[in-house]
This record gives sequence, structure tokens and C-alpha cells, in this order.
Amino acid sequence: MNNKIIIAIDGYSSSGKSTLAKKISQKLKYKYIDTGAMYRGITLLAIRKKIFNSDLWNIRNFIPFLKNINFKFKWNNKFHKTDIFLNKENIQYEIRSLKVTKKVSLIAQIPEIRKILTIFQRNIGEKKGIVMDGRDIGNSVFPKSELKIFMKGSIEVRSYRRYKDLQKRGEKISYEEVKKDIIHRDIMDTSRKISPLKKYEDYIEIDNTFISMEKQLNLIFQLINKMKKNNHIII
Ligand code: C5P
Repeated sequence: MNNKIIIAIDGYSSSGKSTLAKKISQKLKYKYIDTGAMYRGITLLAIRKKIFNSDLWNIRNFIPFLKNINFKFKWNNKFHKTDIFLNKENIQYEIRSLKVTKKVSLIAQIPEIRKILTIFQRNIGEKKGIVMDGRDIGNSVFPKSELKIFMKGSIEVRSYRRYKDLQKRGEKISYEEVKKDIIHRDIMDTSRKISPLKKYEDYIEIDNTFISMEKQLNLIFQLINKMKKNNHIII
């Protein structure tokens, strides 16, 4: 019998979802799936197809290109991280660029794209045993996830995290610009019509503005242990 569970981690941009999700997945020996990377992958494809250079009509033309897309997540032994492949191309580095980040929330509003990615994500999680992070996992992709976490943090802490990441990549951008971009993405992600980012009642909220990673992990494993006791599940 499969006793594994699905852990959904949703939350604001740069709220530390992926760091926490990766650590949980390592401890449980679960798969970690970063759904933001998929939206970013499609955005990269859209940039390459130059759909942003023109009008909405072109977006409609872009949808057929998505029929045969395939995402694969592979563990990179050398750098101890998961790489994402789009149609066999390793896009891990390119999807974190500023040009992709600036357009991704626009792409994430398109219903056809959300539909394609939701089906893809559900297939990956079919056998459970996954930690999946994004914006709509606990309420739309896997509404029956056994554990749903909602991550938030102050705008300053999130912007600073993102600013540091971009500096490491050598991108030329000021802290104020990063902050503006994160506020803009927050607004787009929480106000879109289809599966907006929203904390529902069945989520457990973590505000990590002042909480260390160790404390966040302790909290999650306390919850998991409680579930194990109450539901007699083996995780
Ligand atoms: O998590 P990350 O910042 O990489 O996500 C990039 C963008 O992808 C988000 O700002 C959001 O617009 C979109 N996204 C989404 N639904 C998800 C994951 C990401 O709309 N499940």
C-alpha cells in the first residue's frame, strides 16, 4: 500500500518556499517539484518565439507550441541540486534571469497555459511522495494534499533575498528595482482570475521574516509526526 503523502507549499515570491521544500524532500526522500520553474520555462520559450514583441493574437499562436513540451527534473550530482530540462535542454540557469522573471506572471495568467501545466503537475504527483511548491498547489493542483503550507515574509526580507541571488548571477539591478518587481509580481499573482495565490483555511501559515530555517523545519516535522500518530500513516 502507498502511504506516501503530498506536501503542497504555496506562497509569495522569494518567501523561501523552494529552500524549505528541498530540505523537506531530502529528509523524507521525496521528489521535489518546483512548479515556478515550469512557468518560467514556458516564459523562456515565449521570449524565444518573440511573442512579447507583438499583441495578444500572437499569444494565441503560441499555445500550439506547447502541445509537445516536456519537463524533466534530474538530480545534478556534481552541484547537489535538481536541474530542470525543457525538451531535453537544461534551462535551470536561464529561467532565473531577469528577462524571464519580468514576464513570468503575465504568462501565468493565461488559462490554456495553466491548464497544460496543471495536468503535467498532477501526472508527476500521481504516485504521491512529493513536495511541490508554487502558488496554487494546495488549492488547485492537489486540493487533497495531506499537508498544505503557506509561506510569507516581509517585502524587505524577500526583496533582499532576491537581490542577493541576482547579484551572485552578476545581474545589474538595484535593491529598489528588485523590490518593485516583487511587489508587482505579488499583485499579479494574487489578483489574477484563475487560481490566484491565496491562503485558504486548511493551510498552515509560516511567516519566516524572523524564523530560521531550522525552526521552520522543526515545525514541519512536528506536524508530520502528529499526522503519523493521528492517522497511523507511514511517511
Ligand atoms: O516560484 P517562482 O518565483 O519561480 O514562480 C515564478 C512565477 O510563476 C510566479 O510569480 C507566478 O506568476 C508563476 N507561478 C504560478 N503558479 C505556480 C508557480 C508559479 O502562477 N504554481
